[in-house]
Order: sequence, then structure tokens, then C-alpha cells
Amino acid sequence: MPNNTRKRAERAEEKRVCRLCGWRGIQSQVLTAPNPFEPSAMVLGCPQCREVAAVDVACDVTGCWLPVQCAWSSDDGGVRTTCLKHRM
Ligand SMILES: [Zn+2]
Ligand SMILES: [Zn+2]
Repeated sequence: MPNNTRKRAERAEEKRVCRLCGWRGIQSQVLTAPNPFEPSAMVLGCPQCREVAAVDVACDVTGCWLPVQCAWSSDDGGVRTTCLKHRM
């Protein structure tokens, strides 16, 4: 299914970064567990230091690993999530 493959490649998997140990990875590598206080939400855990709630979404700019600090609409109608440096 070449079409599906291409679609998936266009949108890079969201990057994750750990505030505590500096681990960098993607969403599928993050440890997840149901939140006991909010069943519809998930608790995220760092796969390296095992700290819970220290994993941030990283800036969507390639090569930038700063935590996301703002979300804004891009010209093509998409939503961008970036650090303050890459906000346009
Ligand atoms: Zn960590
Ligand atoms: Zn950035």
C-alpha cells in the first residue's frame, strides 16, 4: 500500500523529551499507563529515568529538542507546536 506509507512519512511522529534526564525520543517509546485520577488520560513515563510526568512534547522543528511552549496555526491551516524560538 504505497499510499498509506507515503501519508505516514509526511507527518513525523511527535518528538518527546525528558526534562529530568534529557532523554530524546518519540511518542511510541514513551511509557504510558492509565491515569488513576482521570481514566481517559494517560500518564507518561520516561523510558530512561522512569520518571513520571517529566516527559514533554518537543518542538516540531527538525533538530530542535526544546519543550513546546506555544501552539499556533500555520498558513496551510495546520497546527504547529513549537518552542518560543521557532514561533513565527
Ligand atoms: Zn528521563
Ligand atoms: Zn524549536
